[in-house]
Amino acid sequence: MKQIAAILILLLSTVTIWAQQSFHRSLKLMGSGFQVTVVVKDSAEANRVINLAVDEITRIEKLISSWNPNSETSEINSNAGIKPVKVSQELFSLIERAKKISGLTDGAFDISYASMDKIWRFDGSMKRMPSKEEIKSSVAKVGFQNIILDAEHSSVFLKEKGMKIGFGAIGKGYAADQAKALLQKNNVQAGIINASGDMNTWGRQPNGEEWTVAITNPLNKTKAAAILPITNGAVVTSGNYEKFVQFNGTRYSHIIDPRTGYPATGILSVTVFAPKAELADALATSVFVMGIEIGLNRINQLPKIECIIIDEKGKVITSDNIEIDRI
Ligand code: ADP
Ligand code: MG
Repeated sequence: MKQIAAILILLLSTVTIWAQQSFHRSLKLMGSGFQVTVVVKDSAEANRVINLAVDEITRIEKLISSWNPNSETSEINSNAGIKPVKVSQELFSLIERAKKISGLTDGAFDISYASMDKIWRFDGSMKRMPSKEEIKSSVAKVGFQNIILDAEHSSVFLKEKGMKIGFGAIGKGYAADQAKALLQKNNVQAGIINASGDMNTWGRQPNGEEWTVAITNPLNKTKAAAILPITNGAVVTSGNYEKFVQFNGTRYSHIIDPRTGYPATGILSVTVFAPKAELADALATSVFVMGIEIGLNRINQLPKIECIIIDEKGKVITSDNIEIDRI
């Protein structure tokens, strides 16, 4: 009897999975292209839950944006060297986790890299190579140790005047994680949040197959370098082929080594797989800065984290436990 009941339940659940369809919406959020995919019963439900995800991402953008002068982040920045700023628990925890990743990567990842954005700008407004002196005086303001957190008062203090924090390397990943969690709470059985290449997935496609992700080939953006299945987890690619400036034939990417103030070199793209997009996002940026050898070494020591690096010659290098089917 029990067996029959189990079989019936299995049949019923298969039927409900079959009745589900995949819907998606593409839109611009956090200054980038986002795509939200959900597996639900009809388009009305899809619209309802996708709106929830969009509202959540918009809310996070307001919290972490450093261009919006009214965000908590801007308040921290404008009080650098002046006074601690009381912030929400959410922002406090995000900064706390960001500082932990700085520790894990020996400072390769550092949200206080942001004071360098006066020197390196990737919006087309840079006309010349910055001087050594300019870089030196700007990089002196970078240092995650000088982000002072006070848990008791939920406050953040940037110790030095001119210091600045920015979430360019972690914010989209965080937003993808939060949107996924919210949709799961709303009983969406499967989906993908694609935050401009920072992806978090859950469940399976309506036909029962795993989701697959294509990793862009940085040397030919219309071609995939690899296609991999991913069921419940995040995959994030950081590339230096989208945002960069060029002086005297050298390409300077938007990922800055916080220790030198110069853009990281030697790597075209880093893809990181991790349970959460936030960590994957931060680590993808960090591997760029750490370089191939140290970066791989670090990734291989972390449980449930893998990476694929494409070096400047187009060579593909992977962490220990990853197998690529197609290159
Ligand atoms: P993308 O935005 O293309 O996905 P990343 O996730 O690698 O790329 O983030 C790069 C962004 O992170 C830069 O545009 C900048 O805002 C910020 N950033 C640059 N260097 C660092 C660094 N060393 N640590 C933390 N954030 C950084
Ligand atoms: Mg990143």
